[in-house]
Amino acid sequence: MKRAYNFNAGPASLPVAVLEKAKKEMMNYQGSGMAVMELSHRSKEFEEINERTKKLLSKLLSIPDDYEILFLQGGASLQFSMVPMNLLENSTTASYVLTGTWSEKALKEAKKIGNAIEAASTKHNNYKSIPSLTEIDVKEDVAYLHITTNNTIFGTQWHSLPEGMPVPLVADMSSDILSRPLNISSYGLIYAGAQKNLGPSGVTVVIIQKDLLKRSRKDLPSMLNYQVHASSQSLYNTPPTLSVYFLMLVLEWAEALGGVEELERMNKEKAALLYDTIDQSGGFYTGHAEKDSRSLMNVTFTLGSDELTASFLQEAEELGFIGLAGHRSVGGCRASIYNAVPLEHVEKLVKFMSDFRLRN
Ligand SMILES: *Cc1c(COP(=O)(O)O)cnc(C)c1O
Repeated sequence: MKRAYNFNAGPASLPVAVLEKAKKEMMNYQGSGMAVMELSHRSKEFEEINERTKKLLSKLLSIPDDYEILFLQGGASLQFSMVPMNLLENSTTASYVLTGTWSEKALKEAKKIGNAIEAASTKHNNYKSIPSLTEIDVKEDVAYLHITTNNTIFGTQWHSLPEGMPVPLVADMSSDILSRPLNISSYGLIYAGAQKNLGPSGVTVVIIQKDLLKRSRKDLPSMLNYQVHASSQSLYNTPPTLSVYFLMLVLEWAEALGGVEELERMNKEKAALLYDTIDQSGGFYTGHAEKDSRSLMNVTFTLGSDELTASFLQEAEELGFIGLAGHRSVGGCRASIYNAVPLEHVEKLVKFMSDFRLRN
């Protein structure tokens, strides 16, 4: 069967090996006579899936013991609210670096909960870049500093992260978690919806320093309280069992490949093919992001006119390329090349980009 050349921004491509394994186990998971989504979430089989998924993530990202891993629902968007609900105390202020649409949304939600301010922003240049670390204004008494490590819509990514901040660093890593090694100890809390780099939609990973759990107030609704989820191993209510299972399969795949170092190497190779094609096109293609802020996950570019863009997208679609239209706030095109997008698909795309340029 022919697979699509899937460059969707999310939900996105999954590894073929993961889909094959899920297919094989579909009717009878490990001799249970049931599909994974038919298992009780209190069964031994599912508890093992839940535990194994946590262990794999811990190992792949070198998560220290003083961090808790939670599998929640509601997407990264619910974390925009849960983070301030749990970490922002009445008399304190949270600080947000604005690098795109998602960080704007995160700040907007935080303002509904308490005091939240901008620490820096690159809105003035249509989010073409990441602010330099010296531009970020962090007061020592803020509750936390929030960043978005990869800006899915604008195609920018933090390449040097604020280390050793005087306050907990909170990061939305929805579109680049597991794409490169991380120094987890630099962060107070990391969150990521799974549907870009980790699996299907439905599960959101939260990695939180155990000390920060103390900030969750008892009068928060239980489902919105990190402490409640942590003390029940993310089994406070019925978890998204199928999504957690797929997350486990994706992590097994990542481990077999060689872990995050190898994934980073592959991601750099794929991104270089696309950025070189853009840079060597003599201005036919223009990258949206400034070079030092370019994302290895979402490559955003424009063509000379709306007509040219429309004909590029139409021809691409006829050849089986999916998801290349840019977000309306940037226009043009975007190729999302998450972990699971094979190198061969990127090679096919750059070949098409070169052919298209020569013909036009
Ligand atoms: C996709 C995305 C979100 C939104 O995720 P949902 O799971 O749809 O809530 C938030 N932040 C970033 C960086 C994203 O890429």
